[in-house]
Amino acid sequence: MNDCLFCKIIAGEIPSTKVYEDDKVYAFRDINPQAPVHVLVLPKEHMDSANAITSENAGNIAAVFEAVPKIAAAEGLSDGYRVINNCGADAGQTVMHIHFHLIGGRKLGEKIV
Ligand code: AMP
Ligand code: ZN
Repeated sequence: MNDCLFCKIIAGEIPSTKVYEDDKVYAFRDINPQAPVHVLVLPKEHMDSANAITSENAGNIAAVFEAVPKIAAAEGLSDGYRVINNCGADAGQTVMHIHFHLIGGRKLGEKIV
């Protein structure tokens, strides 16, 4: 866990552009944005991926989804937005600290679901 990039960002050991923080959640701008708004929203408590969600730690994920509409409103996404989680290799997850991409600010095409 000491090697986790996003744990280091949460701890302030690696810089980020923070847009939201509470006791359970940290959110910052993606370094390679795919839309005018591209924020990563994650629980402060480390878990690798969605595969690690349990009844014991699901409150951290609920906290993420409580934060999402607040962040979306603060970012001016009144016309909508998309929330994406990549879980595992086939989905292209590159950072093994669960995170949710909050994307918006333009028409989002190319839906896969
Ligand atoms: P995923 O591919 O779903 O694991 O998403 C990882 C995301 O983290 C990618 O969109 C990267 O652009 C982003 N990312 C990687 N390193 C940083 C960083 N230091 N600061 C902000 N975003 C980052
Ligand atoms: Zn971590």
